[in-house]
Amino acid sequence: MTLYRAQVMDTPDDPFRGGALRADADAGLLVVDGVIVQRGPYADVRRGHPDETVVDLSSGLLLPGFVDTHVHYPQMRAIGALGMPLLEWLDRCALPEEAKLADVGYAREVAGEFIASLIESGTTTALVFGSHFAPAVDVLLEQATEGGLRVTCGLVVGDRLLRPELHTTAQRAYDEGSELARRWHQKGRTRYAVTPRFSLSSTDDLLASCAALYDDTAGCWFTSHINENRAEIAKVQELFGCGYLESYDRHGLVGSRSVLAHNVHPGDAELKLLAARGASVAHCPTSNAALGSGLFPLDRHLLFGVRVALGCDVGAGTGFSLFKEGLQAYFLQQLRGPDGVPLTSAHLLHLATAAGADALGLRDQVGDLDVGRRFDAVWLDPDPGSPLDIGLRHVDGPSGALAKAFALATPHDVRGVWVDGERVKGAS
Ligand SMILES: [Zn+2]
Repeated sequence: MTLYRAQVMDTPDDPFRGGALRADADAGLLVVDGVIVQRGPYADVRRGHPDETVVDLSSGLLLPGFVDTHVHYPQMRAIGALGMPLLEWLDRCALPEEAKLADVGYAREVAGEFIASLIESGTTTALVFGSHFAPAVDVLLEQATEGGLRVTCGLVVGDRLLRPELHTTAQRAYDEGSELARRWHQKGRTRYAVTPRFSLSSTDDLLASCAALYDDTAGCWFTSHINENRAEIAKVQELFGCGYLESYDRHGLVGSRSVLAHNVHPGDAELKLLAARGASVAHCPTSNAALGSGLFPLDRHLLFGVRVALGCDVGAGTGFSLFKEGLQAYFLQQLRGPDGVPLTSAHLLHLATAAGADALGLRDQVGDLDVGRRFDAVWLDPDPGSPLDIGLRHVDGPSGALAKAFALATPHDVRGVWVDGERVKGAS
C-alpha cells in the first residue's frame, strides 16, 4: 500500500460533452496492488492511514498516464525527415528504414530505444504499429513487457506497392499473425492488433486474411491508416473502386475495436459509418503538419459522433510527447479559422488520456485517476527556474497551469511515470 500526495488533474467527464477539468490542489491517492482504492483531500486520506509510506509529489502536477493510439516502432530512427508528402516520404524515408528490421539484432536495438522513448515521454499505454517481420514484433513485445508498458501491437502486413522485401502473402500474414497472437495476446499488459499497413498496399485477398485473423482471435484489435493524403485517397479509389473506409468495411474490419489513423479528408458518409460502427480515429497532428497532409476536421468528427484520440505517429510525427501532440492539435484547430474547434487545456488532456483509453477499450482500467483505476500516472516536475517552472508558479488556476504544461512541457520535465503502481521512470 502506498499513499501518493500530489496536485492531481484529470478529466473523468468528457469536456467535449460538457465535462470539466477535475483539479485537486492537495490530493491523497491510496494505491494497493496497482489500483487506486481511495482518493480525497490529502489530510483526510492521511488521517485514515497514518503509518503508510507517503510518496510526496506535491512539487509538480500528477496526470493520468498518456495513451498514444498511433505510433510506428520501426520508424524510431526516421523521425525528422521533413519536406516530403506522404507517398514520397514512405518511399524515400520510412520504408527503407522499416526494411532494416529484417535483421533481428537491429530490431532489438530499435525496440529498446522505442519503448524507452515512450516511457520517457509519459506514455503508459500505446497502440503500436509493429514491423513487417514477425521476429521484430516479438522483440518489441519482449521489450515492452520488460519496460512495463501497456502495448497493443501486431505484425504489419502488405502485399503490393511497398518494397518487395516487405511484401507478404495472405496465407503467410495469417499464419505469422496467428502465431504472434497466440504468444502475446492478452498476456500480461500486451494485446494483439491485426495491422494491414493501409489498403493501398493490401489486396482484397490480404484484407480477407486479416479479417479471418481478426475473427479468430477473440478480443483482438484492428488498426490501419485512412484518408491521410489526397493522392493516396485517389489511388485507393482507383484500386478498389470504392471509398477508403469501405475498402476495410467490406471485409468486416470496422467496429468498436478498430482504430484508424488520420482521417484528415473523410466523406460525410464515412464519418456516419465510423460513428455507427463505434470505431475510433487516431488524430496525429504533428505528422499531419510535417507531411502537409491537411487540417484535421475535428468539428465534423464531433458532429457525427466519431470517437477521436491522439497519436504521435512517429516517425512522420516529430516526437513521442503527447504534450506536444496536444499543443499541435490546438494549433491546427486555431488555423482552421471559423471551422476550428476551440480547444481548452482540459480538451487536450482528455484527448491524450481518457479518449485514448476509450478508443483502446481500457477506459474501465485507465485514462483518469479515479478510485478503481490502475495507477498509471505521469508526474510533471520541471527543473527550478525553467520556463515551465516559472509558469506554474505564476499562474491563475488549474486550467491555466495545464495549458502551460501543454505549451512548455518536454520529456525532460516528466520526473516520474507509473504503470499499475510500478514506477517505470525515475525510480530511485
Ligand atoms: Zn502511421
